[in-house]
Amino acid sequence: MVEKANHIAAQRWWRTVPDHLSVEQAQSGVDKLAARMDERRRTVDGIKVTIGQLAAGEPLLELPVRPFPAELEVQRAVSPQALVSFDGNLYSVPPGMPGVQVTVRHRLDEDYLHIVTAGRAVIARHRRAAPGSGLTVRDPGTSSPWNARSSPRSATGPPASRKSAARSRTRPRPRPTGCEDGPPGPGDAGRDRPVHLCRRGRPAADRTRSQGETPGVSTSPTQMSEARRFQQLRSHLSYLKLNDAAEALNRVCDQARTEGLSLTAALERLLEIEVDATEARRLAARLRFACLPEPWTLNDFDFAAQPGVDEKLIRDLATMRFMDDASNVLFVGPPGVGKTMLANALARAAVDGGNRVYFTTAAELAAKCHKAALEGRWRTCMNFFAGPKLLVIDELGYLPLPEDGASALFQVINQRYLKSSTILTTNVGIADWAGAFGDATVAAAMLDRLLHRATVVGIDGPSYRLRGHQNHADTLRQGVNARVS
Ligand code: ADP
Ligand code: MG
Repeated sequence: MVEKANHIAAQRWWRTVPDHLSVEQAQSGVDKLAARMDERRRTVDGIKVTIGQLAAGEPLLELPVRPFPAELEVQRAVSPQALVSFDGNLYSVPPGMPGVQVTVRHRLDEDYLHIVTAGRAVIARHRRAAPGSGLTVRDPGTSSPWNARSSPRSATGPPASRKSAARSRTRPRPRPTGCEDGPPGPGDAGRDRPVHLCRRGRPAADRTRSQGETPGVSTSPTQMSEARRFQQLRSHLSYLKLNDAAEALNRVCDQARTEGLSLTAALERLLEIEVDATEARRLAARLRFACLPEPWTLNDFDFAAQPGVDEKLIRDLATMRFMDDASNVLFVGPPGVGKTMLANALARAAVDGGNRVYFTTAAELAAKCHKAALEGRWRTCMNFFAGPKLLVIDELGYLPLPEDGASALFQVINQRYLKSSTILTTNVGIADWAGAFGDATVAAAMLDRLLHRATVVGIDGPSYRLRGHQNHADTLRQGVNARVS
């Protein structure tokens, strides 16, 4: 979205600029356009955000620590087929190491990759296949007849060792899968045919190279179609914007092969990855939108420190049942008793439960509405505050509201009445609201709507903020008393 906005500014906007404009005028025009585009709300994952909010939530990544050319290192476990998966392909290692943890090392400017053991011994070096090709890359030092039989995607290479090479000259070898006469049949493995020649006489390596393959990566028609199908599947997933599933496809295919998963089990695992990722993305978007002041949850609240708070009631509120009938919650109490913390924790529980939540203070709400009225965006502003399933208005009464602030607050409460829930925290006792708003009628009308369906939580304990000071004062007092007596 940010790039799109830049694109519009760069491509379309300049065409509308008249020739006689000075550079300063043009600059000021583009500044205004940028501010306007920053403020425009668009829907991302079902939530309306501005480009400014999006950009602030997705800052650029840190520069890489290592200068380019960087070396990529990934940890992998060797499969029972003596293969190591990397970047959408499989690479062979010497047999007899199933389950061993190895490191695949690849310098980004090199064609080769190395597979290294924990003791830093290089056990395989391969020419790198194109990422995501779904190929099995073997080298002369690591392939074995067992591998060729057990891996349907394997590209059979020359014999595994000099010893087996000698054996291959005297003994029939499995038919290479690089020939053009169709996929291997059940009896093919034992047929007597030299390994390096296709039936039609051209060396397999030459043929694959002439098809535009990476040298050193030999593939059979079956493997090619398998690889193409894999690519196709990946691109289908990407086209459908199932990007996490597309990324995990290779891993899940490997798991399906090594764990012998059924087709449905593998599909379920693949889609579960996408569902989890989507859920995490949506949660992050909801949290970004909610603007919660702190990451507090109910577990952070020390109920023992505030015995006046009914823990059972708060835990019941945290089930969010009160939102089902658009009830409200009012936290009333002096400063420092944990009103904001509880409102924040309930809001967090609502976000976790998949609800759209917005947290603001009464002063901020009044200021936003005032600005919107001046800019002719009153309706949009009211729609915005009507939208969230749960709206938290914190600190009502701390600062005097301007006259239009009180009326804006009333309108917000009024349009949410019986539709969606509002949590309000205030230090002003309900009896004193008329004085706090300066207008008894507005205060009464607002209270009427707020309290019609509401849970009022009065907290009248000691200030948590002053607890430290109180303890300190008590200790000093005890010290002085002890000295006196
Ligand atoms: P209020 O909104 O009532 O003025 P806050 O919720 O802002 O109070 O709480 C003030 C500070 O004290 C915050 O840092 C909050 O984390 C902490 N606090 C208040 N009550 C508790 C409590 N019961 N358990 C843990 N921390 C608390
Ligand atoms: Mg507070």
